Amino acid sequence: MEEIFDGSFTQQEPISEIAISAALKVLRSGRLHRYNVIEGEVSETTLLEEEFARLIGSKYSLAVASGGYAMGCALRAIGVKAGDFVLSNAFTLAPVPGAIAGVGAQPIFVDTVDNLTIDLEDLELKIKSSSSKVLLLSHMRGHICDMDKLMAICNLHEIKVIEDCAHTMGASWAGIPSGRHGVIGCYSSQTYKHLNSGEGGLLVTDDDEIIARAIILSGSYMLYQQHRSIPDSAIFEEIKLQTPNISGRMDNLRAAILRPQLSDLSDRVFRWNERYKVIEEGLRNVPIIKIIERSENESYVGSSLQFEIPKTSGNQIELFLNGCMNRGVELKWFGASVPKAFTSKYDSWAYVEPQELANTDRILSGLIDMRLPLTFSLKDCQIIARIISSEAMKLSRV
Ligand SMILES: *Cc1c(COP(=O)(O)O)cnc(C)c1O
Repeated sequence: MEEIFDGSFTQQEPISEIAISAALKVLRSGRLHRYNVIEGEVSETTLLEEEFARLIGSKYSLAVASGGYAMGCALRAIGVKAGDFVLSNAFTLAPVPGAIAGVGAQPIFVDTVDNLTIDLEDLELKIKSSSSKVLLLSHMRGHICDMDKLMAICNLHEIKVIEDCAHTMGASWAGIPSGRHGVIGCYSSQTYKHLNSGEGGLLVTDDDEIIARAIILSGSYMLYQQHRSIPDSAIFEEIKLQTPNISGRMDNLRAAILRPQLSDLSDRVFRWNERYKVIEEGLRNVPIIKIIERSENESYVGSSLQFEIPKTSGNQIELFLNGCMNRGVELKWFGASVPKAFTSKYDSWAYVEPQELANTDRILSGLIDMRLPLTFSLKDCQIIARIISSEAMKLSRV
């Protein structure tokens, strides 16, 4: 009998009792809207922003409706206009080009190198060959490029960097938290990310004008004074009537669920990485599988795991995926010609001008992706690694 895994790849941990109590308190108050406070009260959303800024080490933070909203808001706050070009990773997920398209701009995709991060040489070429002044950098699947080199290139060419940290909340490069290298960092608290409020997003920056614009954009009406950490009111006076209200606020219910999770984040990161390492070790000596190596400077969050089965036909990969699936191991393939679940590929975003990225094509054609929910035990991870290995071994015998 072949070993079978019976866990769920999409089951997250429950919301803690502390967070549930905090949520009930908000529900009982009826004051779910972030600006609906009674005298002397500071809303849960405002407190979340303050605590998140402290955690990440930024001057300001804004809580919003989703990670995708945070990116769109960041692009607008930094001054991206309809018709502009925005540089971004070819290897990313649909909300990233979607945020660029959402402001009427056009993505210019940058190629990928073998460790799944952005190709810095191609980045410099594309900076020179385009009029773009902004890079929306996606730390896709938690892989962080050499941020010192990236920032040196972007500073040299006066490119503003917005970091998409949907997969790197709690991660860092050379000791600096992900989201603190560029001008703005964007995070998601959607169920499958590192915090869980169903939907939700956060944005951080040190820039006075950007946070003022972002607050007005998010739909503060003229209630921005309720935010605790804000720049001088003169800055708001200057921009408040020029900045459209594009509602995307967070509410107190979500904020109440999120606040207790902030103090658990480092423990969660530890547990994710324990699981990640068990699977990585289990796959390391399988000849057909290529592990994605990580830099010593990268302190990552192993909430998902990627590996490559290079130089293998699509049919063979489908066979392997089906073999794993039949034994309860749900893997996704980034190379499929039709986008499945969350694995969309850059050439499937037909609203973007067609572009060709040779290395991204080569890498994605053999790239396998796996979610690693914290509901898996370390023993589960050993079973999963054994199943993947044995299915991969079958493949190498075909
Ligand atoms: C999930 C995700 C986002 C956006 O998050 P939402 O909260 O779902 O809008 C952004 N970038 C990447 C790479 C993501 O996976």
